[in-house]
Amino acid sequence: MNEESRNRTCRGCGPQYEVTEAQIDRILQAPMFQDETIVVPDHIYEQRLAACHGCEHLLQEQTCQLCGCYVRVSAKYRSKSCPNVKLRGWESYAN
Ligand code: SF4
Repeated sequence: MNEESRNRTCRGCGPQYEVTEAQIDRILQAPMFQDETIVVPDHIYEQRLAACHGCEHLLQEQTCQLCGCYVRVSAKYRSKSCPNVKLRGWESYAN
């Protein structure tokens, strides 16, 4: 992925929707993200983020263009899967 595509923004969203890494850190400190029945193990989380960071649909290093989610948040959920139906970057986690 080239630098231009990494930095482009969603067509419908302006700067008011940008969040900082610190804001995402704060979201991930919520009690629900400490619950092992909700979140994936760390090694699965890292695999998912690696897939996102190699994906052409990741915008500004944090937002999935296909679902609009902040991937650092969505990749935490066991129940979530990558929304790309053709090249599923990662699957839901049932273990
Ligand atoms: S969730 Fe899937 S489509 Fe979205 S950025 Fe990650 S790998 Fe790409």
